[in-house]
Amino acid sequence: MVRIGYIDTVHGMCPHCEEDTLLVAIVTDFYKCTNCGEETRQYINGSIKYLRLDDNDRDFIKKSKELAEKDG
Ligand SMILES: [Zn+2]
Repeated sequence: MVRIGYIDTVHGMCPHCEEDTLLVAIVTDFYKCTNCGEETRQYINGSIKYLRLDDNDRDFIKKSKELAEKDG
């Protein structure tokens, strides 16, 4: 069961499809591209960038989702 309180969306350049597209927050700092469906990590260093995920990122998302599902 997934509860959606609000959906956080941003515009950004997706590193996968290289489109300026709408990104939907999945967990804190991680977004999913609405164009190609790939997941990205938001990285802020002067400007905002979106990075491809590495294994650590995927692990973090998995754990965050599990926590969110258990909570409540
Ligand atoms: Zn994309």
